[in-house]
Amino acid sequence: MSARKVTVLGATGSVGRATLDLVMRAPGGAFEVIALTANSNVEGLAQLAVQTGARFCAVADPGAGVALKAALEGRDVACGAGPEAVLEAARMNADWVMAAIVGVAGLLPTVEAVRRGATVAFANKEALVCAGELLIQAAQESGTQLLPVDSEHNAIFQTFDDSQRARIRRIILTASGGSLRTASLEVMGQDSVAQAVAHPVWSMGAKISVDRATMMNKGLEIIEACHLFALPQSDVDILVHPESVVHGLVEYTDGGLLAQLGAPDMRTPIAHVLAWPDRIDTPVERLDLTKLGKLTFEAPDPVRFPALDLARAAFEAGKGAPAIFNAANEVAVEAFLNGQIGFLDITTCVAESLERGIVTGIAVEQPADFDAVLEVDGEGRRLARHIIAERAH
Ligand code: NAD
Ligand code: MG
Repeated sequence: MSARKVTVLGATGSVGRATLDLVMRAPGGAFEVIALTANSNVEGLAQLAVQTGARFCAVADPGAGVALKAALEGRDVACGAGPEAVLEAARMNADWVMAAIVGVAGLLPTVEAVRRGATVAFANKEALVCAGELLIQAAQESGTQLLPVDSEHNAIFQTFDDSQRARIRRIILTASGGSLRTASLEVMGQDSVAQAVAHPVWSMGAKISVDRATMMNKGLEIIEACHLFALPQSDVDILVHPESVVHGLVEYTDGGLLAQLGAPDMRTPIAHVLAWPDRIDTPVERLDLTKLGKLTFEAPDPVRFPALDLARAAFEAGKGAPAIFNAANEVAVEAFLNGQIGFLDITTCVAESLERGIVTGIAVEQPADFDAVLEVDGEGRRLARHIIAERAH
């Protein structure tokens, strides 16, 4: 079999590195790395490019181009800098593209890969939240196979029998509950950045760590699931499952529940999409159920974690609302990480941005194309920044 040609967008991130770790462990000849991208981590990107024998690498930060060139001096790797170079990386002839840039910044590069019909492993949930309809439509037009990387969606992908769609009652995404699962509202009000980010089970990027603590991550995942599996939000349920071992379940009308289990390690879902439709070995720790003894599940608390209902409302409102929801969250998370706002302010800021977006009409227009989505995203950011500035006074 010929090598699968792979490109990783967001190569220096947690998902990107896990992907390349698996690529490098695979037997020689299984994969060929075409292009890698990063935001500004020149050293990390250059090192990965050399290690994997990538043909091309790109940094989104235009100012980092000189440093990238210098870091690759004498190496047989072409490089570029700026957003256009990242798009160029996505356009190269990889058969398989990992979309693992964090945030809406990943939207246009991912669209490039989708438009040319590459198989796209989708980790960048924010892009699907903002532009789900357009992305799914583009994938249908180009014949792109979208493979869900998010562990819950990957679990659903493996257990969702599309030929029995009418017999599927609902799907359930599990949530670890984040680092503040048992915290009172009072404690959440005093929370420090470090506490929210220090997540108990997985190691991951800063943004997703905060999103897990607010459960905004699960809110984004509800919308992501609606798009990936063409379901109404009422058919997507959430169960808090602190062990993070059961990743997702599909309930059929006969009462059967199909679930996918595995140790909480992103390399398992990433391996699934990397080899799909085959399977490959991973060094992931095997799940020892006897050691675990029991698995626990609880309903999410809508009072301490309003993000879930907010996400459902954004999805129901449709049109530009999910893009406002996502943009406000990206801005609020950044403000929280910079110490500008408290933990509970994140969700309040998102709720207010969404409300103002709807009242002012920004959220009620259907974005006609990806540029229109980015315009709504920009408006959502302005609203959120305004709300944060008001709070600071
Ligand atoms: P990360 O912060 O570790 O890495 C993000 C990557 O995106 C880096 O390579 C960074 O250089 C690049 N990037 C950031 N801003 C950019 C910009 N403006 N332009 C171009 N590139 C940019 O994030 P992560 O944890 O790897 O998450 C990546 C995506 O996968 C997110 O959408 C996240 O929600 C999703 N995801 C992550 C996990 C996880 O366990 N980490 C699990 C499921 C889904
Ligand atoms: Mg997830």
